[in-house]
Amino acid sequence: MAKRDCVVIVGAGAAGMMAALSARRHHPKLKIILIEHEEILGRKLLVCGAGRCNVTNVNVVPERFSGAPTDFIAAVLKQFDHECIQKFFEELGIPLYEEKKNNKGKLFPITNQAQTVLNLIIDELQRAEVEVRKGVHVESVRKDGDHFKIKTNQGRIESSTLILSTGGKTYPKLGGDGSGYGIAQSFGHTIIEPVATALPLVAQNPVSKKVHGVRAEMEVAAIIGGTEVCRDSDQMMFTKYGFTGPAILNVSRPIALRLNRDKINDCELELKFLPRKSRKEIEEALLSRWKKRPDQRLTLSLCGLMQNKLPAAILSYLEIGDIPAGDLSPAGRKRLFDFLSGWRVPVTETRGWNEGEFTAGGVECSEVDPKTLESLKIPGLFFAGELLDVDGEVGGFNLSWAWSSGYAAGALKKP
Ligand SMILES: Cc1cc2nc3c(=O)[nH]c(=O)nc-3n(C[C@H](O)[C@H](O)[C@H](O)COP(=O)(O)OP(=O)(O)OC[C@H]3O[C@@H](n4cnc5c(N)ncnc54)[C@H](O)[C@@H]3O)c2cc1C
Repeated sequence: MAKRDCVVIVGAGAAGMMAALSARRHHPKLKIILIEHEEILGRKLLVCGAGRCNVTNVNVVPERFSGAPTDFIAAVLKQFDHECIQKFFEELGIPLYEEKKNNKGKLFPITNQAQTVLNLIIDELQRAEVEVRKGVHVESVRKDGDHFKIKTNQGRIESSTLILSTGGKTYPKLGGDGSGYGIAQSFGHTIIEPVATALPLVAQNPVSKKVHGVRAEMEVAAIIGGTEVCRDSDQMMFTKYGFTGPAILNVSRPIALRLNRDKINDCELELKFLPRKSRKEIEEALLSRWKKRPDQRLTLSLCGLMQNKLPAAILSYLEIGDIPAGDLSPAGRKRLFDFLSGWRVPVTETRGWNEGEFTAGGVECSEVDPKTLESLKIPGLFFAGELLDVDGEVGGFNLSWAWSSGYAAGALKKP
């Protein structure tokens, strides 16, 4: 039985590890126990940013997050904003740099290696004398008087304070099994239905079937019930089932919620093969090429504008032969211009929990104090990270939320 006057933190992802370090910073004498059911701490951190770890973003503002109301998110972020995050990592010995590609404000460690970030956080946990218990699964928790009684697969632990930072449900092989939702519910907390977001989309179509594996810079919009809800330009990949890649992940959230929470099947993607070009600009660009070289085959006349394999697949889809550009009929031209300036493809499914990067939904934030992240139902119970109903855009926002909320919860502030 562990000493009762201590804080137990369940879940050693980004949020839980930060909560432990924050608890030490604010409470130098407190006993801190960090419990993780995997044998490795921070497994999800290692896959972040394809192993490069997009630690935070220079544009972290509440409006870039969804779920809880903006003022709730703002109250948490301001306690540990992106400058604090940057300073924290610099003090740890991990300088960050801003990636200039696409000017999206993403900050990465100069090593471009998530493992280096994790190594130094784990070292800091040791220096802070945080007692880490790996391979311990928390099965259930109840409160008895002033104390939490925590049942694990390796016996019971008691504590005066509990921080739940068990994450969401995506990538279950990295540790997220959603068990934190059940624990929160057992204390009377409401769970907003979790849905996997930032994920590939199933949209069967003949073009993807022909060119699966091809990556291209594209402009992509999410269309719901015929109305555009968001848009992004970035790299995208054609797959046998539809589409993936950053541009798709960036616009997938509203589609995932519509299909999997609202259960309404009226979602489409609009794809532009020539990003940021209006229909007029596309027409002008092609007409001027065709005027200069009317004898050039259509595939060649398009191939300087897009990835090499795309023109043949597009022409085949539009049932236009690979004829000399000058021979294309006015109706054929219109079909091609229409397609290039916005091809709409119905989305039927998302790829689900194994491929989603974040979870939308989680612990209802109106039941949590935004200044402390303490439960408004159970004194001494705190929440941090993706377990809460907050998810950010792709680009370092979700780790930012994990660091900021971990810091706020770990302070164990009393109102
Ligand atoms: C492929 C991928 C790439 C990503 N890339 C980025 C990126 O570059 N930038 C970015 O900002 N975000 C990225 N994210 C999102 C980011 O990783 C998460 O939002 C963030 O790690 C969440 O941190 P967390 O601590 O709240 O949860 P987690 O990291 O999921 O940590 C929760 C921990 O709790 C443990 N746990 C759960 N239940 C129990 C239990 N009952 N008992 C004991 N332990 C338990 C789990 O094993 C886990 O280690 C990415 C996600 C994925 C999947």
